Amino acid sequence: MANLEHIKISEEAKNFLASNHQLLIDGEWVSSTSGEKIPVFDPGTEAKIAEVDSGNEDDISLAVSAARKALTGEWSKIPSHDRAQLLNKLADDIDTCLPLLAELEVLDNGMPLALAHYSIAGHGTTLLRYYAGWATKIQGDTIPVSPGGVVNGESITYTRREPIGVVGAIIPWNSPLIFAILKLAPALAAGCTVVLKPAELTPMTALFLGELIRKSGIPKGVVNIVTGYGETAGNALSHHNSVDKIAFTGSTEVGKKIVAASVGNLKRVTLELGGKNPVVVFPDADLDKVIPGAARACFFLQGQNCMAGTRLFVHKDIFDPVVAGIKEMAESFKIGHGLDPEKDFGPLISDTQRKRVMSYIQSGIDEGAELITGGEMVGDKGFFVKPTIFTQIHGDMKIAKEEIFGPVLCAQSFDNNDLEAIAQQANDTSYGLSGSVWTQNISVAHKMAMLINAGQVSINWHAAVDPAIPFGGNKQSGWGREFGKEGLEPYLKTKATSVIF
Ligand code: NAP
Ligand code: MG
Repeated sequence: MANLEHIKISEEAKNFLASNHQLLIDGEWVSSTSGEKIPVFDPGTEAKIAEVDSGNEDDISLAVSAARKALTGEWSKIPSHDRAQLLNKLADDIDTCLPLLAELEVLDNGMPLALAHYSIAGHGTTLLRYYAGWATKIQGDTIPVSPGGVVNGESITYTRREPIGVVGAIIPWNSPLIFAILKLAPALAAGCTVVLKPAELTPMTALFLGELIRKSGIPKGVVNIVTGYGETAGNALSHHNSVDKIAFTGSTEVGKKIVAASVGNLKRVTLELGGKNPVVVFPDADLDKVIPGAARACFFLQGQNCMAGTRLFVHKDIFDPVVAGIKEMAESFKIGHGLDPEKDFGPLISDTQRKRVMSYIQSGIDEGAELITGGEMVGDKGFFVKPTIFTQIHGDMKIAKEEIFGPVLCAQSFDNNDLEAIAQQANDTSYGLSGSVWTQNISVAHKMAMLINAGQVSINWHAAVDPAIPFGGNKQSGWGREFGKEGLEPYLKTKATSVIF
């Protein structure tokens, strides 16, 4: 693992990483007011790869002022058709830079290169093009009024959908570029302006995107990017009284802080938070699909995925073959640096995250769960942890309850056909983000999907993600939905106008 001679970094990536990374405010790259920097590391080698500016409250204020000014400037006069063209062009520009962007994403986040390619081309640019399509379809209604009311006689009432205003977007490190695009695409389609705060651990692709945006023809100040720490830049953005909406993706713990911070000016808040998602497998399920499906559900992005299917419930009749199959797959992953084309399982994001995951693994062992594979760190450089599976799980164990955000699967069996009882087990969590049901029986499939308390349930698949499919959490997994038409709504407000003749 420590042998990294076969890891080739392109000259373009080296040059970009070595350049001076500043804040994008009002269309210009500017230094942070403090002059402080944040080091950025490759989680696959632990090497420092870049440093970026550490934005603080003053920088956030400058960025919010620029976004406020841009909201009513040239941007507000651009016809929706042209707004759509700008988003489509940005998607084209991202496609042109795909190899470099994917390489930077791997170096910053650790994900395997093939996944970085797929996520940017398959999700990122598709999302931009999808929301570009919505820009021209934002429209109000004409409202027939009630007789005998104040507005009667000869009158017309109509509604207009207006941009909500200045959006503060705060995103995590697990899919950095996709989350940046997921916030920017609907916001810009709606005509909002944005201050984006990337995760301190993974700011590189957002900064690269900033330069593409700067050259794209999108007016200055429409998108501002302030890299920095959550406690400073993120906190200042979420408290700022000139921000109209915060779009947050991250932990439930920080999500609650965002809500508290919104009280100052009652800004709107949408939250995409954590998950502890159930995968429910019935005895008639097709094991050739279940085994790779459940393995991917849990171990995709090394389990650093809010939709990860980390709680596996399998009928007792097929529990042993299902778990044996997932174990075999877990042991077959090739762990290593994301730029090594032979590897398909990367590192965790940081030493802190690795320690956190290892302490959960230890707690599983201490609480009496049976470790059937993994449970160990790998190599002496890079934050690698083997895919890990526990059986003999009880619902009250820490590993069964808390979001680990690492490659740890908790497998349990059930031995009855009472769907309500199975759902009760599956729903025994404070989260409600996603889930999956695996069976050939359409009645069982749909009934179970109805009973799972989550924003999204897939049948014979886990985590069906598409720009058009609404996504978001129930319970402590969040507020609101992203993706699809519903994902556009939080960026719009309605104005009713009545004309009395
Ligand atoms: P996090 O610690 O909550 O951080 C998310 C973002 O919030 C980062 O940019 C962070 O800044 C910032 N932040 C931290 N403290 C803040 C504060 N007091 N005020 C404002 N912003 C603050 O989450 P994470 O560790 O990066 O990501 C993992 C979590 O995200 C998991 O719980 C996961 O489930 C969740 N997630 C959810 C979804 C979803 O769509 N539901 C998707 C992906 C991840 P820093 O730069 O300092 O970190
Ligand atoms: Mg964090």
